[in-house]
Amino acid sequence: MSPYDESPFIVIWETTRACDLHCRHCRAAAIPMRNPEELSTREAFGLIDDLAAMRPQPIFVLTGGDPMKRPDLVEIVQYAAQRVRVSITPSATPLVTGPAIRELASAGLSRWAFSIDGANAETHDRFRGQAGSFQRTLDAVGTLREIGLPLQVNTTVSRVNRKELAEIGGLVESLGAVLWSAFFLVAVGRGHVEDALDAAETEEVLQWLARFSEATRMDIKTTEAPQYGRVRRQLDISPRPHGALRGVGRAPRPVGDGDGFVFVSHRGEVSPSGFLPLSCGSVRERPLSEIYRTSPVLRQLRDRRLLHGKCGYCEFREVCGGSRARAFAVTGDPLESDPYCSHLPDPEFARRLRREDLRVAQAVHS
Ligand code: SF4
Repeated sequence: MSPYDESPFIVIWETTRACDLHCRHCRAAAIPMRNPEELSTREAFGLIDDLAAMRPQPIFVLTGGDPMKRPDLVEIVQYAAQRVRVSITPSATPLVTGPAIRELASAGLSRWAFSIDGANAETHDRFRGQAGSFQRTLDAVGTLREIGLPLQVNTTVSRVNRKELAEIGGLVESLGAVLWSAFFLVAVGRGHVEDALDAAETEEVLQWLARFSEATRMDIKTTEAPQYGRVRRQLDISPRPHGALRGVGRAPRPVGDGDGFVFVSHRGEVSPSGFLPLSCGSVRERPLSEIYRTSPVLRQLRDRRLLHGKCGYCEFREVCGGSRARAFAVTGDPLESDPYCSHLPDPEFARRLRREDLRVAQAVHS
């Protein structure tokens, strides 16, 4: 099945949906106020204890909304950092002060991630819905560099900033990021379907990213565009040696929604990813480890033989498998083929794969 059947590589916890920004594409459709039903500090500790017992241990990412809106954030980071590798993705608001960054770094963070969605203040701030967000991000990055905490930069790739990507990539590199993570927009939350790249535009951007990855020292990964692995192979660009990164490291093989990757909402609902809002259970009722291993939805997502359409018989299904969130957003079926992929699978390979799947299925059920 999957090398991630027992334990995810990465667990994302939406600490809160509260956030003072109003980003154009926000997955969480965040609002300024915290929800009283958020997981409590004690429940967060329970989640962390469960992660700490998993083998291999997942990376724990605190996201939002804006995690800085939680008054118990330092306490949670301290507790987590003593048990697992933990990173954070705060919003660049006035809450991200130099002292706040230093306190969280001292609490034991392994990496800090900021979002940069435009190459300059005008485009970034328009995207983020708040004037001054771009400069505040650059100021905070200055503090991270002073204290030597590894930086990851996330960029939501959409039609709004597609033409600026080369400039954004240059900026991210100049900031000394160890990882540039390109999130391909999925129309959930406040994301607009008309802003998402189509298949041809996606292919063009992925090819550019793959070539750029050869010219830069930072690592590059994609979210909701697993075709990046296929494109790299087609362009004969070999993977980076593992272990080169500081901080939290990279997955030993590509992760997908529910397959090495799992999301816990602010109220404890578990889903394959934040972009694939299918509830698989609640950590208020069962431990995440149990939900991850036994949920029928998550188990199906980890078995790529079950994929429908061309993703099911594609020669790249193991290195790619298509974006399950994108398939769900467009068709309502998370196992459908990725509608934003322009690749046409090799027919001879597809025939062999189907025969092999049948043979395995017969062996399992005989
Ligand atoms: S057809 Fe599916 S599995 Fe193959 S490259 Fe495209 S998205 Fe990936």
